[in-house]
Amino acid sequence: MLRMTLLGVGTAVPDQDRENTHMVWEAPEGLLLIDAGGSTFQRILRAGLDPLALRGVFLTHSHTDHINGLPALIFQLALAGFQGSLPIYGNAPTIELVRRILDVFGLEQYKVPLEWVVVAGGQEVPLHSPSYRLRVADTVHPRPCLALRLEDRTSGSALVYSADTEPCPTVQDLARGASILIHEATTPQPFAGHTTPRQAGTVAATAQAGRLVLVHFSPRYTMSAADAIAEVHAGGFAGEAEIGREFGTYTL
Ligand SMILES: [Zn+2]
Ligand SMILES: [Zn+2]
Repeated sequence: MLRMTLLGVGTAVPDQDRENTHMVWEAPEGLLLIDAGGSTFQRILRAGLDPLALRGVFLTHSHTDHINGLPALIFQLALAGFQGSLPIYGNAPTIELVRRILDVFGLEQYKVPLEWVVVAGGQEVPLHSPSYRLRVADTVHPRPCLALRLEDRTSGSALVYSADTEPCPTVQDLARGASILIHEATTPQPFAGHTTPRQAGTVAATAQAGRLVLVHFSPRYTMSAADAIAEVHAGGFAGEAEIGREFGTYTL
């Protein structure tokens, strides 16, 4: 089974119901964490999953709301008895910054062995998974950022996550034909580096996505949920659209 569980769905500033956006991908061979915003270890447990089953962490970019939970996660995995080494995937500037942050934490023996894997937009990530493949694309954001396309090797169906971005051709292309498109919708009005609910609707419609899930969204900071769904439809998307909720699951 291939399934995404949302661990957080909020904007860079959390609200009372929403942690920073991050999520975990479940495959027969283990879990791939996508970003680490907040109490990630605990959130994986609350999702009914085992943090010791993590087989990798993919970081979309180095903004604080996407990486702040990583040092604690690495520390907690070590204390909990994690076996083996943990690959950390990301673009070069993200990996560079995160390595420096971990040095400052001085985790020493309280740290699982890490494998740093640098990936670039347009590449397939070398996960060697028998069940799915992962391709990434550069987004348009103040820091270099990667969107992800997770594709079932058997059925070919795909789940795409935009990460942080304004509408752009590379993410538009990556999203083509996705069964599930998880797209950020941070801002009420067009804003450099981010997307509005209406723009997310247009991306989903152009991609002919099956289902659209808005994340990096907050009724407190973006707009009401009802307005956001109306905006998605105004953007041209006629399919199933919803606001992502924490611990919501999406099975391919
Ligand atoms: Zn963000
Ligand atoms: Zn960001």
